Amino acid sequence: SASLFQQIEEAQPDAIFHLSALWRNDPDSRKVNLGIGAYRDDDGKPWVLPVVRKAETIIYNDPNLNHEYLSITGMPEFREAAARLILGADNPAIGEKRIVAVQTISGTGAVHTAAAFLSRFYRKDVPVLISNPTWINHKLIFKGVGIDIVEYPYWNPHTKGLEIDGMLKALEDAKPGSIVLLHACAHNPTGVDPTQEQWKQIADVCEAKTHFPFFDCAYQGFASGDLDRDAWAVRYFVERGFETLVAQSFSKNFGLYCQRTGCLTVVLNNASVAKKVESQMAIIQRSEISNPPAHGARIVNIVLHDPELYNEWVQNLKTMSSRIQEMRQRLYNKLIELKTPGTWNHIVDQIGMFSFTGLKGKQVQVLKEKYHVYLTDNGRISMAGLSSKNVDYFAKAVDDVVRTV
Ligand code: PLP
Repeated sequence: SASLFQQIEEAQPDAIFHLSALWRNDPDSRKVNLGIGAYRDDDGKPWVLPVVRKAETIIYNDPNLNHEYLSITGMPEFREAAARLILGADNPAIGEKRIVAVQTISGTGAVHTAAAFLSRFYRKDVPVLISNPTWINHKLIFKGVGIDIVEYPYWNPHTKGLEIDGMLKALEDAKPGSIVLLHACAHNPTGVDPTQEQWKQIADVCEAKTHFPFFDCAYQGFASGDLDRDAWAVRYFVERGFETLVAQSFSKNFGLYCQRTGCLTVVLNNASVAKKVESQMAIIQRSEISNPPAHGARIVNIVLHDPELYNEWVQNLKTMSSRIQEMRQRLYNKLIELKTPGTWNHIVDQIGMFSFTGLKGKQVQVLKEKYHVYLTDNGRISMAGLSSKNVDYFAKAVDDVVRTV
């Protein structure tokens, strides 16, 4: 019989998770998954950080831990540590109690909570400005809370780098007070970040136009291997006196993908509103998830509070970021050796999990059908999917499609 939901249209599956499913079902032994942004070791296997294993052992052996609810805004020590990590331990905003930190369902939850907060408590007459392209979920999330979306240019297909002039002009032309969504480091999907000089220009326009900067930080420490360097842009904006929101994910830098560990930090310019903001965040959180999950937050909390484990974590981060950088170099070297038409220096210049190769949709299709290599139609590859075992195979496949498709 007819359903009340008969009229529903079937939505497209999520492009990236769909790609992984296609890869999983492909019986060919040469298959390569360059879709999903999750770290893999040189054998193509997921990697549990050794420091995470240690923290888990501590949790497991702690007789005082139980499975009671956390408070609505999450574990206090974790939230403090997360805010110190992104803002810098000696940031005056922390000392002056001008921050509010809420534990969230990973980076996605942090972005969503921020969007929900802005939709209720920020002006209603301005859009959010997002980069073209950006992480696909940014659009879904802001659409979901009813905030208008306007894109600013970001990727220049000719230079395969940042379209800084177009970006600055779009920020300049936008309605004053617009929300500007910025990737703190390792821009997804392009792997292209502004230089420090360009960040200064971006801050200048935001200041002149009274825009509200909102940072999404999913790759701190994972991008360059240096936690402070990857937090530079956020700290710079805070130092310049902007109020801001920072969404933090611990999925990549702790390898805690399924533990949904994140934090949303609000930096305010006076302490008197902090309590009010926190109380409203609690209302949002209560209605949506009631309170956040504990396991991942416990792991991060233990590591961030123990100097020895912290140092070990920094080493683990280096292991991941250097392997990715090595893959960039090897892919580049092989393409040069093969004399693949085009320029390829962007492969080594880009940073973080992803590289925007410049490959076209048709070439991506042939990579999939002929070579069993899976990547998104926009030509983005997850560097973590490459290894010493498949990088040459991939380079040869790229060489072929660039010449023939
Ligand atoms: N923001 C960006 C730009 C990302 O690339 C990601 C992960 O791919 C996230 C946020 C959040 O991911 P998660 O919710 O898994 O922490």
